[in-house]
Amino acid sequence: MKINEILKRREKGVSFEFYPPKTQKGRLALSNTVDLLNKYNPLYVSMTYGAGGGSQEQTKDAVSMLLDYKDLEVMPHLTCIGSCEKDIKKILDGYKAQGIENIMALRGDPPAGQSDFNFIAKDYSYASDLVRTLKQYNHFSVGVAVYPEGHIESSSLEKDMEFTKKKVDAGADFAVTQMFFDNSYYFSLLERMKKNAISLPVLPGILPLTDVEKVKQFAAICRTTIPLDITMKMEEFRHNPAEMEKIGIDYTIKQCLDLIKNGAKQIHFFTLNKPDIITAIIDGIQ
Ligand code: FAD
Repeated sequence: MKINEILKRREKGVSFEFYPPKTQKGRLALSNTVDLLNKYNPLYVSMTYGAGGGSQEQTKDAVSMLLDYKDLEVMPHLTCIGSCEKDIKKILDGYKAQGIENIMALRGDPPAGQSDFNFIAKDYSYASDLVRTLKQYNHFSVGVAVYPEGHIESSSLEKDMEFTKKKVDAGADFAVTQMFFDNSYYFSLLERMKKNAISLPVLPGILPLTDVEKVKQFAAICRTTIPLDITMKMEEFRHNPAEMEKIGIDYTIKQCLDLIKNGAKQIHFFTLNKPDIITAIIDGIQ
């Protein structure tokens, strides 16, 4: 079923994002993760796609693995940067033949070390171009990424919203946010979207805050703020990872409860293929 339909029908629920495993051990970990999280009857599950085509085959394999779970709605991510239309359509034809009805349409990032990458030299410059290709199929429900604190390349929140509107106007059906740790950014994003007459479901993307040092590195790349009080609290326990994780999980539970209290009833989890942490959080918010 198309995710935009699921989001209309089910007012409350969670969705899970996985990444494609590279090894046999990783494949076992992924199937264990899916088995354990399936009990929450997710709205849908999604599989990330390597930037610059790094893990295209791994994504396709992992998507096929998810399709074995007949009760799951599966959404592959697809990036378009550096791709030509012929290759993108080949991938989409394959997904359509497998019965996939949902795609997360992303631009992706340039290959590492190519700071002078020419974004407009290929068939696809932005995610909005990929949304347009997807809509030609008249088959896929299309998700796009949105950024509570603005995308790192955006010169201002206004510009960020201007380009977000372009990708929504191209036909996006729903959006998932970049991670954020301060809910006020999410609610401000919703306000900005409303002011710009952008109306589509926006699932808050939640990354459990468990290893503060790792999340700090990732957050710096994505321009995501980690509130100082929780950073300091967790850093106190840098030599006690179990306690640090517990503090982080408690923080994420509170963050989700606050989202729910303020109207966000559908939450997307970046699982990092770690079921125990996600289980602890979902059990904590029920
Ligand atoms: P776009 O929407 O194209 O925006 C990119 C930048 O270009 C923004 O700064 C935007 O403001 C600007 N822009 C857009 N249109 C125009 C225009 N017409 N003119 C000028 N500027 C413009 N990456 C992966 O590689 N694989 C994944 O699976 C993956 N999954 C993700 C899931 C989520 C929920 C999120 C939030 C991100 C994910 N990413 C993934 C990361 C994403 O690819 C990067 O954030 C990337 O830098 C931007 O992708 P986008 O689709 O948001 O790009």
